[in-house]
Amino acid sequence: KKADTKDKYAVLERFFGYSSFRRGQEEVVDSLLSGRDALAIMPTGAGKSLCYQVPALLLDGVALVVSPLISLMKDQVNALTAQGVRAAYLNSSLNDAQFDKALHNMANEMYKIVYVAPERLKSSRFIRAAKSIRIPLVAVDEAHCVSQWGQDFRPSYLNIAEFIAELPERPTIGAFTATATAEVKQDIVRILGLHDPLQVTTGFDRPNLFFSVLRPSSKPQTLEKLVKERSGKTGIIYCSTRKRVEEVCSSLCAKGYSATRYHAGLSDEERRKNQDDFVYDRKQIMVATNAFGMGIDKSDVRYVIHYNMPKNLESYYQEAGRAGRDGEDSDCILMFGQQDIETARFFIENTEPNPELSDEQNDAFKKKEEERLSFMIAYCKTKGCLRAYMLRYFGDTADDRCKKCSNCLTNFKTVDVTVDAQKILSC
Ligand code: ADP
Ligand code: MG
Repeated sequence: KKADTKDKYAVLERFFGYSSFRRGQEEVVDSLLSGRDALAIMPTGAGKSLCYQVPALLLDGVALVVSPLISLMKDQVNALTAQGVRAAYLNSSLNDAQFDKALHNMANEMYKIVYVAPERLKSSRFIRAAKSIRIPLVAVDEAHCVSQWGQDFRPSYLNIAEFIAELPERPTIGAFTATATAEVKQDIVRILGLHDPLQVTTGFDRPNLFFSVLRPSSKPQTLEKLVKERSGKTGIIYCSTRKRVEEVCSSLCAKGYSATRYHAGLSDEERRKNQDDFVYDRKQIMVATNAFGMGIDKSDVRYVIHYNMPKNLESYYQEAGRAGRDGEDSDCILMFGQQDIETARFFIENTEPNPELSDEQNDAFKKKEEERLSFMIAYCKTKGCLRAYMLRYFGDTADDRCKKCSNCLTNFKTVDVTVDAQKILSC
């Protein structure tokens, strides 16, 4: 099972074209190569995929990657295949013949990496094929989906541990997420059954992101100004409702901006098309609800504007974090209005109880959501450093002043004026 760890640089270079690992990646790669489970908590854009792809290429047999994101599977498999890696995915987008073929190849160990949707782990044919081959590694992407505390709880993620228990030899398990709260972490370790996992947390700071909170008297006017100032740049505008997405998108289009939209009210086909238009630079601005973005790797997004306040900082940081994945300076602007609080409360009040949970658990979840909302509101109202507020919320350490968020800059000006005034006075 052990692989020569020197080879990891060769793989990194040859298949991915990178000469060095980013923060945290190498520790995770080493852990998985040595057969120790790992839990990697890294912000969006940090490069979690590489942490399981490199070991997958070095270990004997077929590595499985569990992912909830159909479009991500396809993109990653295409990218790997283009680099000469034998990879495939098994999800509901395949027809019967395609599924049979991929499963047959997998049963013959013809792939190094197979992406699989969590629902498939229950399929008896998939289980039979999996039991007949060597599986050195199971990587669970978006691992927070196992936790009922998170936004993205997926009951099918509960199949993972059961599936692994059926395998003749226990694979090494790597779990990957950008969600860091203590409850979610504990759930991942417990529900996936990780054995003494190496925990790698890279820290959540994204120094190239500039955070600001605005309280515009007219959101439409302010938005137009912000977009105009960023003409020619790629951006995402998040709104809290489909209706708002439609309004904002039409108004930008009417003013001649190259905008498209994404929300759950559109057909699958239209969503796919609009997403591709944005990803492939045919459209410059994406106006969307929070349905947009998970798993999308567009590195040159220069700004993310929230037209409405999200319901918690987890969502906000994840959505805003889609800006600047290439490391270039980017803006994350939140437009706060009193009305946003009502909307967020309404969403929390009207969330359907999860039928898989008891009444008590559902009540506890709702309370948690209310608590999270209060931190979100406090972020919008704080006069302190926005970056410090967020990083501390996620359990990170932070300087008191980042000196580049809207609050630090405002306070800075005040300080500067005072200093200048003092200088004048002391002359
Ligand atoms: P995450 O899943 O953590 O959000 P991804 O795995 O999608 O992040 O990676 C984000 C981007 O970073 C991708 O474009 C990827 O190619 C790039 N990347 C990952 N690792 C490295 C590295 N070691 N050097 C340079 N770029 C990297
Ligand atoms: Mg990812």
